[in-house]
Amino acid sequence: MTIEQLHRFTQLRATDPKLTDSMLLNSNNPSKFSTKPDVVVAGAGIIGLCYAIHLKNIAPQLNIAVYEKNRAPDGLQFYCIDREGVEVTSEDIGGLDLSFQLDRRMSELFLTVWAQSIGINVYHGVEAEFQIAEKYQVSESQEDTHCVKTPQVKLKNFPKPGGTDVNAKLVCDASGFSRKLTSKFGKKELFEGWNCDAYWAYFKEKEGGKAESRSDHWDYPATKHAQSGVPAHEIPSTKALSEKFGCPFEFITSIGWAVRDNHKLPDNLDEYGSGEGERKFNYFKRRYPTLNKLMNGVYELLPRYYGKQTYFVRKSMAYRNPIVAGDGWFAIGNSAGFTNPLISPGINAGIGTAVLAANLSKEILDQSPEQSRAVMQKCAATYQSYSHEFMIPRLHQMNRYWYNSFRDHRLFEIMVPCFWTLGIDDANSHYVNEFTKEDIYWVVGAGQDQFVNFSGKVLDILEASNELPANDDEIEKGNMKESQEVVALEFGVHHARSGDTIT
Ligand SMILES: Cc1cc2nc3c(=O)[nH]c(=O)nc-3n(C[C@H](O)[C@H](O)[C@H](O)COP(=O)(O)OP(=O)(O)OC[C@H]3O[C@@H](n4cnc5c(N)ncnc54)[C@H](O)[C@@H]3O)c2cc1C
Repeated sequence: MTIEQLHRFTQLRATDPKLTDSMLLNSNNPSKFSTKPDVVVAGAGIIGLCYAIHLKNIAPQLNIAVYEKNRAPDGLQFYCIDREGVEVTSEDIGGLDLSFQLDRRMSELFLTVWAQSIGINVYHGVEAEFQIAEKYQVSESQEDTHCVKTPQVKLKNFPKPGGTDVNAKLVCDASGFSRKLTSKFGKKELFEGWNCDAYWAYFKEKEGGKAESRSDHWDYPATKHAQSGVPAHEIPSTKALSEKFGCPFEFITSIGWAVRDNHKLPDNLDEYGSGEGERKFNYFKRRYPTLNKLMNGVYELLPRYYGKQTYFVRKSMAYRNPIVAGDGWFAIGNSAGFTNPLISPGINAGIGTAVLAANLSKEILDQSPEQSRAVMQKCAATYQSYSHEFMIPRLHQMNRYWYNSFRDHRLFEIMVPCFWTLGIDDANSHYVNEFTKEDIYWVVGAGQDQFVNFSGKVLDILEASNELPANDDEIEKGNMKESQEVVALEFGVHHARSGDTIT
């Protein structure tokens, strides 16, 4: 039977309903499994796939294999609601479109198929382990000092029971929070001061709960960033795509809160549920009336949707790893470090690590074996300094800036245009072009020196107290006024309010 490319997965499943998701996806791989690919990537999240695709594009001759332990793309989707819980404020505030949202499951599926179409093998349902060879511990004088000493990869139960050793020239840890390789090079470093904890669960929309009538201001502009020149209304709806490809669909979404860990909670949370996750999830939900109404009216909780738990907790989310590159390896995306990516620079920043690591990988693999180790060390130092010294600390500062701005909507309205002017700058030139070297160091504005200086001064004022502003008077006379003065002092901005001119 001829399988049409367009309906390949649908038809394969029709011919054999027992085919699992990973069997279907893996059947799309362009070449045979090899125990000696040039490059191995552990993790087919967005960042691992971006790295593989970018590297293949700039070095098409390379044999690249990506291993993903999940059986199929998986993902979370996040919405943001204001402090009082009255409005969904993700639309335009001070001219800023806050939505950079991507549906991760769709993005990962799309990137998987794209990677396969350009010659990369992506295997789902395959867990990778790294083994750092003993030769790492051997002194230089005893060992060959020229060759790159790449960590070895062991694939668990693939392709045969008992697993397989894979020897690549270069490996990339894109395993996210699992930190499969980076964890072998030291404990994660937490930042001083407060951190963020997250509480979430999985939901589906109730029958009759229409997306467009969910709440005021819920016209979520998520597709605006898809591509310059492609109006959102021309992008097919999920329903249209479902009909075209014969795929039934339902909206399952995770909804959660990412909160400062120094937030003062009531002493007794028993009334909110049984475990910590349920109690804290419900506490924050009920605290905000619109959120509570929206959740109760539209979303149905899916108990134990992922395994045994219903409610999930992740604590102290912001961290960086002490070592993120070394002999024969790079760590990219969340496996290198993470800050809670408010206003969404997470994926963008992660892509910065993927593109830089891919460019450096090409440089290393282009060398003769005699030169490769020296070049590897130079490239590892460049990458280490980018991720550990530059990107993650700057994202962390931006994150603190946002959390403090969220303490009052009037502060937020001041901070957004300041950020837009000093950090984002000319958004169009950043978003319409390809991802460039400048973008790697831009980090959605967090990389701009002007913004770093400005936000540092704002934080000196706002972090002096953790209390929410008590009343209007305090805001006018206290934090807000001083923040405006900082702006005025530093940049000659006299009215950094939304709508006013900023020079
Ligand atoms: C609460 C929260 C909210 C966020 N909101 C946003 C947002 O609004 N916008 C935004 O841009 N970003 C957001 N992010 C960040 C975004 O999710 C990350 O930037 C992005 O997912 C990182 O991608 P990654 O590929 O590094 O890691 P992941 O997406 O975690 O992918 C890692 C992959 O590796 C796989 N893996 C793990 N161990 C192994 C192994 N041993 N072998 C093989 N595979 C393995 C995992 O199964 C996973 O698929 C948010 C993150 C969190 C936690």
